[in-house]
Amino acid sequence: MPQSDSKTVAVPGIRDMLARLISLPSISSASASWDHSNEPVVRTLAEWLEALGFAVEILEVPGMPGKFNLIGTLGRGPGGLVLSGHTDTVPFDDKRWQSDPFTLTERDNRWYGLGTCDMKGFFPLAIEAARAFVGEDLKEPLIILATADEESSMDGARALAEAGKPRGRYAVIGEPTSLKPVRMHKGIMMERLKFEGQSGHSSNPALGRNAMEGMHEALSELLMLRSAWQEKYRNPNFEVQFPTLNLGCIHGGDSPNRICAQCELHFDLRPLPGMDMDTLRQTILSKIQPIAKRRELALEFEPLFDGVPPFETPADAALVEACEKLTGHTAHAVAFATEAPWLQKLGMETLVMGPGSIDQAHQPDEFIELSQLEPTVEILRGLIRRFCL
Ligand SMILES: [Zn+2]
Repeated sequence: MPQSDSKTVAVPGIRDMLARLISLPSISSASASWDHSNEPVVRTLAEWLEALGFAVEILEVPGMPGKFNLIGTLGRGPGGLVLSGHTDTVPFDDKRWQSDPFTLTERDNRWYGLGTCDMKGFFPLAIEAARAFVGEDLKEPLIILATADEESSMDGARALAEAGKPRGRYAVIGEPTSLKPVRMHKGIMMERLKFEGQSGHSSNPALGRNAMEGMHEALSELLMLRSAWQEKYRNPNFEVQFPTLNLGCIHGGDSPNRICAQCELHFDLRPLPGMDMDTLRQTILSKIQPIAKRRELALEFEPLFDGVPPFETPADAALVEACEKLTGHTAHAVAFATEAPWLQKLGMETLVMGPGSIDQAHQPDEFIELSQLEPTVEILRGLIRRFCL
């Protein structure tokens, strides 16, 4: 391991670190024309972490060439505290930015740039917090985790959960929450339902099998399920206290005088903590399968993406209590989804808390308030002291 004091000089200050990270495009997107490798960001983080004495492991995400997760560990042994962030950003609308999205720009006591708040800004602050503990005898390790593709598929976090790494005891995901702890969010499911029947002349219904009529019945079943779920599940921690189901788009048929042969629906479901995604899919299937059978329609029902499970950490968890004490805020619920369910799957007590506001995420002229920087470093140091020393 390198001598820490001769190497710490190689690690720049917070502003220079962030300027460097912002200058390295790492957009992730389902659209290939936007999608970038996150390797330059990961290699840069690895360089700084190694200079501070972290043992760094870089893991390629299986089946995703050019996409990497990074696990940096200071100290050794089981347990420990994970400070986690995603390395990717969303795409941007160049014309609506006042300054270059890839150049860190200071104005009005803010740093502007793509990823300043969501969430490259977290890494320099976590590294700055860690710097104070280099050379200390940590009882449990401090782990800095950097993931790939959170904004597009969450495949980075998914791959980590499958690989069983890292194995910390506690995890804080530094998504922008204005430094207020978040211990729950809803899940996200997007599903596709398609009926296929048989076209025919509209003058005689016996000449075909109408997929749109099947869909009409299926829509009724979905709305009844929605009512039933909204009766059964309610959580006052959320602004929208019940699970939602949105009928998003529908396509079917081609002409008024033809029996509709195909009808396809896409809908979105936001389950509350405590609702299991596979059970929900099974319940839906049990309602629409009989329709398909009775009407002799071919049925396709599948997720449009793998989904994000709902997330909840109990109010009395040690990490929740520690973060509430350090910030002075009671842990709450948010409307956006994170990688928390996968870190939880790894056995870690998990919480979401980081600098910057979600209001600036995914927006032109994204920024982080300079007033958030020092408190973030202080809070993270408090957590490291509590869980690693
Ligand atoms: Zn984010």
